[in-house]
Amino acid sequence: MRLQKFLANHGVDSRRKCEEHIKDGRVKVNNEVITEMGFIVDPDQDEVTFDGKKIGTNEKKVYIMLNKPRGVITSVKDNFNRQTVLDLVHLEERVYPVGRLDYDTEGLLLLTNDGDFTYTMTHPKHHIGKTYVAKIKGRPTKAEIKAFEGGLIIEDYKTSKASFKVLREFPENTLVEIVIWEGRNRQVRKMCEKIGHPVLSLKRTSIGNLALGDLEIGAYRHLTKNEITSLG
Ligand code: URA
Repeated sequence: MRLQKFLANHGVDSRRKCEEHIKDGRVKVNNEVITEMGFIVDPDQDEVTFDGKKIGTNEKKVYIMLNKPRGVITSVKDNFNRQTVLDLVHLEERVYPVGRLDYDTEGLLLLTNDGDFTYTMTHPKHHIGKTYVAKIKGRPTKAEIKAFEGGLIIEDYKTSKASFKVLREFPENTLVEIVIWEGRNRQVRKMCEKIGHPVLSLKRTSIGNLALGDLEIGAYRHLTKNEITSLG
């Protein structure tokens, strides 16, 4: 298998970006830096590393939950040198985020090096519920809540069923719990905007039955075996 394909298949980055990483000398095969494009590796025999971290089938599978702080980007690398979620986890294995949270969103983010797990978790057909606590502007009416739950037209798509529960009302805004079973770009923000109550702050508190619990902001932990099987 070509080296750039091998790297991309293991979630290191896109194929094109992996080519750049190879050219930049960040990839070693059997302890030797390879900058040649199209270098062939044997996935079962060769030891491939990226920035010194082992990639591939021999690598131990790890599953992490991170309480992502606001102001951190869910990406492997940022062109503007902002802090990424990978700057917060210090592991021997190279992991990458499962789906994404916006720069301004905090809360539960999974990271793994298991491509099959990522596929299961992010594929729309799996319908895993994601719960968010949002502070929204103003006080939503019953009709607005019904519209939110029943499906909204956003840009070129209609959202599927969602749940919307008022947790607490303040004079100027409302704390709500929202569950969605899809995960389009900035979906919760767009849905709240659509019913006239823009999001002021947003936190993801669970994915399926996996809850963030009392994990501190910026902290991470390995998932237990039971947690992994109940998600996948
Ligand atoms: N929906 C959003 O709008 N933002 C997120 O970060 C996650 C879900």
